[in-house]
Amino acid sequence: MKTYHADENGYYGEFGGAYVPEILHKCVDDLQKTYLKVMESDSFKQEFNQLLRDYVGRPSPLYHAKRLSERYGCKIYLKREDLNHTGAHKINNTIGQILIAKRMGKTRIIAETGAGQHGVATATVCALMDMECVVYMGKTDVERQYPNVQRMKMLGATVRPVTSGNMTLKDATNDAIRDWCCHPADTFYILGTAAGPHPYPDMVSRLQSVISEEIKKQLLEQEGRENPDYLIACLGGGSNAAGTIYHYLHDEQVKIVLAEAGGKGIDTGMSAATIQLGKTGIIHGSKTLVMQTEDGQIEEPYSISAGLDYPGIGPMYAHLNKEKRARVLAINDDEALAAAFELTRIEGIIPALESSHALAALKKVEFKPTDVVVLTVSGRGDKDIQTYIQAMNEKENN
Ligand SMILES: *Cc1c(COP(=O)(O)O)cnc(C)c1O
Repeated sequence: MKTYHADENGYYGEFGGAYVPEILHKCVDDLQKTYLKVMESDSFKQEFNQLLRDYVGRPSPLYHAKRLSERYGCKIYLKREDLNHTGAHKINNTIGQILIAKRMGKTRIIAETGAGQHGVATATVCALMDMECVVYMGKTDVERQYPNVQRMKMLGATVRPVTSGNMTLKDATNDAIRDWCCHPADTFYILGTAAGPHPYPDMVSRLQSVISEEIKKQLLEQEGRENPDYLIACLGGGSNAAGTIYHYLHDEQVKIVLAEAGGKGIDTGMSAATIQLGKTGIIHGSKTLVMQTEDGQIEEPYSISAGLDYPGIGPMYAHLNKEKRARVLAINDDEALAAAFELTRIEGIIPALESSHALAALKKVEFKPTDVVVLTVSGRGDKDIQTYIQAMNEKENN
């Protein structure tokens, strides 16, 4: 049977795998051999589900957005990951990974972060589980994401500013992998998205799959059917999208629309639209599409949204795009901003800038009045308020 999930070596068609330096082979191999056994154990399931319920606040609501529906001529439900503890879907994954780390006897946690959302989610679960936590963050991001840096410190994490390259997410990831190489025995690397070497893409997708598990139940209750006509999510590395589509991948009548960051436009040299612009290559241990120069140097991505500003993409999406199972749209900065203001004004929900890319995709799809659409709001907009204020000021001055 055709499958869109990873095979036992972590391949999605031709993409995926685990391309890691010799010194990490044992770490990655241990994790590959352990993660499914742990995740399928009763003790893990019980602790994971209890924390998702009592600590994160799950299930997150599936909200019928009536005014948004009217505007787009279909029936739109929002999956409210913005209401989770720490403000986004990322906590689902960090809780799962720290429970796996504990069961593997690890005592030290490392993570990479761009905007700081994954760093905060990791520092949060390290406080909860009393584990040492080191977060790598590009120096540029440390400066522009000050409140999240302070949050991580307050939670007890050490934030290490990274000064190589552009001093952003790609460089922070390199340094996190370097740290892992130096401390393979006691350290667990909590990766923040559905990318990296096998088993990370599959492990992160499974941990986030609680999102589509809930959508199925909630839609059955509210609509009398489990399947929507469309699923829509934004695409950074691919973890909130993976959660949204996981249990629907093989229901081909459910259409999947994903929004990646077009930046200032895919032809401007300032973009993070990896599906549109990338070529096959290897980044952070995975064979996938990568934004790269003719001679294979990784190109610096750009997006208004720090959470989508990554030159690679989870290997599953390179495959889903190739197989035409998912339609991937590039959404530009100005389109995302307009969508953020629209949702705020007509539904009273201030979305994260990443999620606003998914919302902007509504304008690019022709819906029928009977279509049921589920769109994941991956996070809340508090962290982006400076960018929104600046956009409002610019509008007033024009
Ligand atoms: C990190 C982040 C994203 C992008 O990451 P994915 O792994 O693609 O989900 C999207 N939305 C929010 C709110 C984020 O914090």
